[in-house]
Amino acid sequence: MSAREWIDKDFYRELGVSSDASADEIKKAYRKLARENHPDANPGDEEAERRFKAVSEAYGVLSDPDKRKEYDEARSLFGSGGAGGFNFPGGGRGGGPGGPGGAGGFDLGDIFGQGTTSGGAGFGGLGDMLGNLFGRRGGGAGTATRGQRGADVETDVRIEFAEAVRGATLPLRLSSPATCGTCHGNGARPGTSPRTCPTCSGVGLVNRSQGAFAFSEPCRDCRGRGTIIDQPCQECGGEGVSDRTRTLTVRIPPGVDDNQRIRLAGQGEPGRGGAPAGDLYVRVHVRPHEVFGRSGNDLTITVPMDFSEVALGTTVTVPTLDSKVSLKVPAGTSSGRVLRVRGKGITRRDGTQGDLLVTVQVVVPGKLDAKARKALERYAETVADTDPRPEITALLRDRE
Ligand SMILES: [Zn+2]
Ligand SMILES: [Zn+2]
Repeated sequence: MSAREWIDKDFYRELGVSSDASADEIKKAYRKLARENHPDANPGDEEAERRFKAVSEAYGVLSDPDKRKEYDEARSLFGSGGAGGFNFPGGGRGGGPGGPGGAGGFDLGDIFGQGTTSGGAGFGGLGDMLGNLFGRRGGGAGTATRGQRGADVETDVRIEFAEAVRGATLPLRLSSPATCGTCHGNGARPGTSPRTCPTCSGVGLVNRSQGAFAFSEPCRDCRGRGTIIDQPCQECGGEGVSDRTRTLTVRIPPGVDDNQRIRLAGQGEPGRGGAPAGDLYVRVHVRPHEVFGRSGNDLTITVPMDFSEVALGTTVTVPTLDSKVSLKVPAGTSSGRVLRVRGKGITRRDGTQGDLLVTVQVVVPGKLDAKARKALERYAETVADTDPRPEITALLRDRE
């Protein structure tokens, strides 16, 4: 029995009950009809045998609450007996098991197999419903020929600090599965071509009977592809996909952060069966710079300075990423103070601009020559009465 015939059947009518009959009424009706039409009681009576099979089938569905619910839903969707919605040729009330020759035309097999080129949600819903009823849960035949989106691919690139700040365009060599270049994806050795599978006529699905039901399953001869490859491509072994080295151009936007992922849509693994390709994610590793650091859009740099420079004030030349800038350090600048140079940080594509943040770090010479020592000793004498740490001195005084 095909799915179409199944939908055409009126199990309630077979049992002579109404569509809102209780489980008990259904059971009683079935027992009575099964007894009357049992082959043992009607030897040689073909009509009785047909009736016996029909009521058994009807009872098989209607006695199971889940199956009955799905059957009801499927019928309401299709408008059984021409009540609206769909009407199958050769179906409808009184058609009974229409048998072959249902006037041609609509075939549910198409819905099951190809997965709706028309994309109607109703079809998908029905397919699922029938799939459940037929005990074929999930996946299976449905996905066999529907195509599959290619997998996402991730790769790493290592770039210089300056490239991360300014942005860069990099060639990226990738070895990843791609449409086979030898057979252009059809899997057949060049000069040959795949032929339509004779078992399933290219549909990729075959109908199989199990008990009273028939359902579609992937064709075994072509593994659901609908085509048979007599001489597989040597490069990809008939898969249509092979590892291929590609060179892509990756644009790294200015201001990219270390460990950030950049997505290249459609550059992942190719899809199968006409489905779209996956995406390529490029993870960016930024090599640290010897002197510069990053804080968001700001560039950072630490500038060592002598005590006399910060005490007296000076102008210091500081490197920027691609040039240099003169920075005035006011007299009396403490170690650790951050001076800001506007607009010398990272400029993003949207125009937002960061600054250069200069951290002053007072350094102490490890060695002093005699002259410098003398000068410092003189300086120390002049400031002997000035306490550089009054708060601490006060605290210590309390503890005496
Ligand atoms: Zn190939
Ligand atoms: Zn086949």
